[in-house]
Amino acid sequence: MAVTRTFSIIKPDATRRNLTGAVTKKLEEAGLRVVASKRIHMTREQAEGFYAVHKDRPFFGELVEFMISEPVVVQVLEGEDAVKRNRDIMGATNPAEAEEGTIRKEYALSIGENSVHGSDSDENAKTEIAFFFDEDEIVG
Ligand code: UDP
Repeated sequence: MAVTRTFSIIKPDATRRNLTGAVTKKLEEAGLRVVASKRIHMTREQAEGFYAVHKDRPFFGELVEFMISEPVVVQVLEGEDAVKRNRDIMGATNPAEAEEGTIRKEYALSIGENSVHGSDSDENAKTEIAFFFDEDEIVG
């Protein structure tokens, strides 16, 4: 299996509850390595741009307000089959449907305030990494 990269966000509900370390520990235990990380307070423009694919969905406004409500931690994760590995440890979007041991099962508050974002394909991972990081900020 090839070593690849994915993009992760520790969302405001998790940073607010001081769960940055707990979430990162789960990612590391799943075999992912943090090769870039920064804490930012997203602007409205960044949040709207990042989630543009969802702009016609009914939850878009609420999602943007949530993502700019508190700081987040954006990360680049590296590992074997990183996108899938990360999606597996994140768990289902709705924490009520997430499997035991996943980040969202343990920490998410609701389908909206669900603690983490993770890219859903290698192609999106590349775009999302480039949205927040310059190549020289990533140290593998
Ligand atoms: N979301 C929401 N309500 C919904 C579906 C999604 O608030 O009914 C939010 C939630 O924070 C989710 C994000 O929009 O993580 C992106 O949705 P997506 O379907 O891409 O889920 P993910 O890939 O994050 O599991």
